[in-house]
Amino acid sequence: MSTPPRYRFAPSPTGFFHVGGARTALFNWALARSTGGTFVLRIEDTDEARNKPEWTQGIIDSLAWIGISADDPHFEGPLFQSAYADAHLAAAQRLYEGGHAYYCEMTPDEIQTLAKAEGVTGYAGWSRDLGLGPGAGRVLRFRVPDGATVVRDQVRGEVEFDNSVIEDFVLVRSNGTPVFLLANVVDDMSMGITNVVRAEEHLPNTPKQQLIWQALGHAPPVWAHVPVLVNEQRKKLSKRRDKVALEQYRDEGYLADAMVNYLMTLGWSPGEQEIQPWSVMEQAFRLEDVNLSPAFFDIKKLGAFNGAYIRMMNNDDLGDACLPWLPESWGPEPFRSMVPFIRERLKTLAEAPDAVDFMYASDPEIDDASWDKAFAPDYALPLLRHVAEAYVVCDWDHATLKAVMEELMERFEVKLGKASAATRVAVTGRSVGPPLFEALEVMGRDESLRRLHAALNRLGG
Ligand code: GLU
Repeated sequence: MSTPPRYRFAPSPTGFFHVGGARTALFNWALARSTGGTFVLRIEDTDEARNKPEWTQGIIDSLAWIGISADDPHFEGPLFQSAYADAHLAAAQRLYEGGHAYYCEMTPDEIQTLAKAEGVTGYAGWSRDLGLGPGAGRVLRFRVPDGATVVRDQVRGEVEFDNSVIEDFVLVRSNGTPVFLLANVVDDMSMGITNVVRAEEHLPNTPKQQLIWQALGHAPPVWAHVPVLVNEQRKKLSKRRDKVALEQYRDEGYLADAMVNYLMTLGWSPGEQEIQPWSVMEQAFRLEDVNLSPAFFDIKKLGAFNGAYIRMMNNDDLGDACLPWLPESWGPEPFRSMVPFIRERLKTLAEAPDAVDFMYASDPEIDDASWDKAFAPDYALPLLRHVAEAYVVCDWDHATLKAVMEELMERFEVKLGKASAATRVAVTGRSVGPPLFEALEVMGRDESLRRLHAALNRLGG
């Protein structure tokens, strides 16, 4: 029996948790769970200048939000890279002792000058055979062997790198700290990682890392580099240009399930029907089916997914889910009663209060353009007077309220939308909104009539 695979997700806590990171984490999560393997969360916190504890907490909270829960038996961690500093340096020492690495005391300026003089780019192994030992100001460099390095990538197939274009890269800086490449490999090795699934931007690091694995006497993991996420202009998503923080989407009222489903479709497809529950995607996901081309992170499409997920919720659950977005001074009613009538148009939970705010304002602000338009026709004022009269005595349910309006519409020979325009503006303050008769029913007779009369007074009639 082969041992279960060990995947890992290795974010650096240097900023808000990025949607691209979330997608990579989900791919790893699906694979770990569907294979009975493990998902190791490793926080790569060795860049002390840029790390902050709150970013680490943000990663953990964001992962939990998208269903990657630390309580799941497939989850291991979080482990912190900073705790393994001794192992990183011990591995560097082994590479040095095994002849796979050597010390070099050339400064960046000296390297630049010499490269220029010799017409080469980068560092051409000048200190390889000087036999320098460790010492102040010296870096430890990897001795890149001749030949080629073939990376076996589950998304890309075999990618061959000519070693002659890989310079003898630095493993340990002159201040004694190991570089990312080395720490990352040593951690993967000591954590028993069998599969590395990460963003495409790390592909250029991979031949170097594979060489380190081999020099340390281990078979490399199975690699997979998933395509980058791009914006509408086909530029790589960046935190300066684009809305990339997962937390921000959460706070704007996107549902976790919708976000998870949408992220899974970036570079992969669960089939013709893209809206699928996690349980199905988790089992169906295969790295071999991931595309090579960059994936467009389309906020409009995300909105459509979110709308679809909102419509899958029942009214009670949707009402509950919206409550955190209501202003503090609002009670849950009449909002809850309105949920069935506003749900069709919602793209995010955060949009919910806007759809019903007129109900919570005793005198809703009436937008002038809607007012002018509603009362411009000659029939508008007399029709509204009739509405105000008829609504005193009729039954108070949306079907009756509508039937009354339909009678008036025939009498005044206008369409229903035109006949109800003045009522809508008088009651809701604007010309578009949730279904009018349902809103009137929920608002109740007294409040509705009060608003109709306020409008009639304003018109002097
Ligand atoms: N800490 C690296 C990053 O956040 C992870 C690289 C990797 O997954 O190997 O980009």
